[in-house]
Amino acid sequence: MADVQIIREKLGVHPDFPKKGIVFLDIFPVLRDPILTELMISHFITHIGTVTLPKSKQSKIDVVVGLDARGFILGPLVASRLGAAFVPVRKKGKLPGETIQAEYMKEYGTDIFEMQANSISEGANVIIIDDLIATGGSARAAGQLVKQLGGNTLEYLFVIGLTFLKAMDTLDAPAYCMIESE
Ligand code: 5GP
Repeated sequence: MADVQIIREKLGVHPDFPKKGIVFLDIFPVLRDPILTELMISHFITHIGTVTLPKSKQSKIDVVVGLDARGFILGPLVASRLGAAFVPVRKKGKLPGETIQAEYMKEYGTDIFEMQANSISEGANVIIIDDLIATGGSARAAGQLVKQLGGNTLEYLFVIGLTFLKAMDTLDAPAYCMIESE
């Protein structure tokens, strides 16, 4: 689709960041342009309305869960359009009050994600959003947290999917990547 192509062309491409051998794809150039930001968010909203909800036979999304850190930008924009709540998943030690935890694998060692304990009601329809899926470790941890609170994850949404890593098949719900990258 034309909107996807325009967004793809605007992504920053940074070889050897944050370390040698990694090509970092950057969505901030898209966010610097309000028209492209609007295109990107509208693309997600159209997808949710025409695919996510009909496929899951649900009429609405109750909660948008955004992953630390760029999911904190995309999530509220999508949630406000849907009239849904926004709930953050943060790295350990950043959220006040009672939290629940899930550990996940990083390239070296593990990390811990947290969510506020009372942030999702039992049976709530949830979508989980982030800028990029690589190994899927962070998305899987977020999915575990939603499940622990009794939420029903309908779909995972990403701007970019490193689909050759095949992480989307390891999630507990369907995943949609606006842009597939090699
Ligand atoms: P995963 O847990 O799927 O291996 O990695 C995905 C997480 O790492 C996401 O939170 C994403 O923001 C971050 N990440 C890894 N590589 C990139 C990249 O090339 N570009 C961006 N924007 N984020 C990345």
